[in-house]
Amino acid sequence: MTIHVSVNREDAQDSISILKRMGIIDPSHKIYNSGERVFIPIRSADTIPESVPGTIVDLDGKPKEERLRPLVQPGSFDVIGHIAIIKNIDGKDYSSKAEEILQTRKSIRTVYLDRGVKGDHRKRTLELLAGEDLPETLYRENGITLRVNVRKAYFSPRLATERLLISSRIRDGEYVCDMFSGIGPFSISIAKNAKARVLAIDSNCDAVEILRENVKINKLMGTIDAICADSSSEISRHGKFDRIIMNLPHDAFNFIENAYAALNDGGLINYYEINTDEGITDRMMQFRDMGLKLTWKRVVHGYSKMESLHSMEFQKIPRN
Ligand code: SAM
Repeated sequence: MTIHVSVNREDAQDSISILKRMGIIDPSHKIYNSGERVFIPIRSADTIPESVPGTIVDLDGKPKEERLRPLVQPGSFDVIGHIAIIKNIDGKDYSSKAEEILQTRKSIRTVYLDRGVKGDHRKRTLELLAGEDLPETLYRENGITLRVNVRKAYFSPRLATERLLISSRIRDGEYVCDMFSGIGPFSISIAKNAKARVLAIDSNCDAVEILRENVKINKLMGTIDAICADSSSEISRHGKFDRIIMNLPHDAFNFIENAYAALNDGGLINYYEINTDEGITDRMMQFRDMGLKLTWKRVVHGYSKMESLHSMEFQKIPRN
């Protein structure tokens, strides 16, 4: 049995360079290109970050059967600073697993069970399984440092690669709106890696307070403005943007008219949606009809059996 990451041809280069950097590619097997898909041999499926596009497949000589990698394996956990968060996907008792994490990982002081994100602010419902109830921590990714409070505001480490990819697409001098900023991982990453001015908006005032602190921690004062407001109305009060980040994957389409109106002609929208492939095709047609041309897309990771998190970039075509 040889385990491979199977990716669309268009995502192959991204995946290969991430996996190479992490030293996960299995050098004893060749990368196999079937035309439509590229199969990258890996040493183990356990170490693949969710942010790597593609699915895990077992190949026996030639590609036969492809199965979707579930977003989270039973008992898998995220680590954010001193906090481990176990995903509750099968209702099992993870108390002993939590104790084991606490005993074997010296940097972990807190282990929570994640009962899911809820409400407009997408806050996590967390149950303390082991250690101390310390929801605030410092987290480092791609050369930035973020203060995170896992109870007060949404944060996921699984989009680290996506944030790096988006930062690399920003051109010097862009005026960017991060329409659903949370504690600011996109805003901070963009302002750190590109010469851009950023307006960050979030309706969760706790998230915005933490974002302002993150601006100071990363020495980005003067490049990011952070506002606690409903972005559907707030976005029209700050002039026109060259780019708008819309990271609200279940609801962003409800805000697309507001974003469109606040975008310069030729400006770009980085849009996220959790949907099936068919649903995404319909969405692209809907956006094309309103004057938004697709310029880039990738699947970030699987979400459920039929749905994935899709990342798409659209350009505003001037209306005559
Ligand atoms: N971009 C951040 C990140 O990557 O960590 C946060 C993403 S989280 C999925 C979506 C965020 O949108 C939440 O922080 C929530 O409070 C915010 N939100 C939801 N509805 C909003 C609205 N109408 N206006 C502004 N922010 C909103």
